[in-house]
Amino acid sequence: MSTWLRNVRLEIGETTHEDGSILTKSDLFHIHVAKEGVIQTIIPASENVPDTDAIDMEGKLALPAFKEMHNHLDKTYLSLGWKACRPVKSLSERLAIEAAELDELSETVTQRASAMIELHLKNGVNHIRTHVNIDPFIKLKNLEGVKKALEAYKQYLTYEIVAFPQHGLLAHEEMPDLLRQALESGATILGGLDPAGIDKDIEKSLQVTMDIAKEYDVDVDMHLHDRGQVGFYTMDKWLDMAKEQNYKRHTAFSHAFGLSNLSPHMQKLFAKKLSEHNAEIMSTIPISINHQLIPIDILKTEGVKVALGCDGFYDSWSPYFSGDIMEKVHNFCDYTGKSDERSLRQSLSLITQEVTPLDFEGKQKWPMIGDEASFVFVDASCSAEAVARLPKNRQLMHKGKFYKSKH
Ligand SMILES: [Zn+2]
Repeated sequence: MSTWLRNVRLEIGETTHEDGSILTKSDLFHIHVAKEGVIQTIIPASENVPDTDAIDMEGKLALPAFKEMHNHLDKTYLSLGWKACRPVKSLSERLAIEAAELDELSETVTQRASAMIELHLKNGVNHIRTHVNIDPFIKLKNLEGVKKALEAYKQYLTYEIVAFPQHGLLAHEEMPDLLRQALESGATILGGLDPAGIDKDIEKSLQVTMDIAKEYDVDVDMHLHDRGQVGFYTMDKWLDMAKEQNYKRHTAFSHAFGLSNLSPHMQKLFAKKLSEHNAEIMSTIPISINHQLIPIDILKTEGVKVALGCDGFYDSWSPYFSGDIMEKVHNFCDYTGKSDERSLRQSLSLITQEVTPLDFEGKQKWPMIGDEASFVFVDASCSAEAVARLPKNRQLMHKGKFYKSKH
């Protein structure tokens, strides 16, 4: 069914005041969404449109729908009762605790994943990249459950599933074949995890990953928590191997903590290398008094694509986080001292696959006729205000279809 969205607020430009401050300009429009879910017409709200099949958006601001690019739908405790985390002394202890409860949790994976999907939809997300454990304990059980949950919401979102060797790739000899099975059973991206810290053999771990990725012709998205020189070396080595072995697909490094302690000069040089390889960085904006955030601004300046994710939340790893991807942008801006109109509004690109209503200079570039009709409608005057104030009561439209919560 085609629909008119009446009185939608769109950003159209900016005004610079005498004191140098910048204010985003917006106006109201009627948007006609064709039944195929694309934008067919945009006209000023002063013009008349037929009342039938029209929905009054009452001046709400339209933003591009959000993308959640690092998540673990299979791990959450959401929909179960409250449970705090058990304290551990090391990552291997944390993994042992997770392994002990995997079997029991796998029974409710579809229910738990659905609760997390609904939270994302409510917050304006219409694309989820989720990692799913593929491990020797429950094998492909979580993959099946997560796929089922995502399929049930496919009218509201698109998704990608990463086959994730959370308990190591080399420590269990059946892992390479389990990952192959996952890639034959609905996972579309190959994951990885700390070739140094977990697998204890960087070259071998990367080579096995490369071999499987080439065999199945899939992208790779690797968790790299290894810090310092080891983490940096792992990324550098992978990019060299990708070139030498003619790996044509796309690489993403999640977390990429090895970038944070390099000198700014080295960060810039390596950002150039990442950009040449078209490699993407996924961050969850971890804010810690012990560690520096990775240099997202330097990466972006050098043309590296950076995307954000909420990671797992409320699970055996962490009891925290609201599950709002927009809060990640807000935290990033707060932490890096961004408070002016332009930098606040441009930061939205971190959760929209680079799409922003205005470009940096304030020229309108979204939405255009022919674009997918995927929006988040919010109570705000402009993107900058939305990032700073995190409006509640968001309404998601995915390809012309409004998300309506079942609850
Ligand atoms: Zn993760």
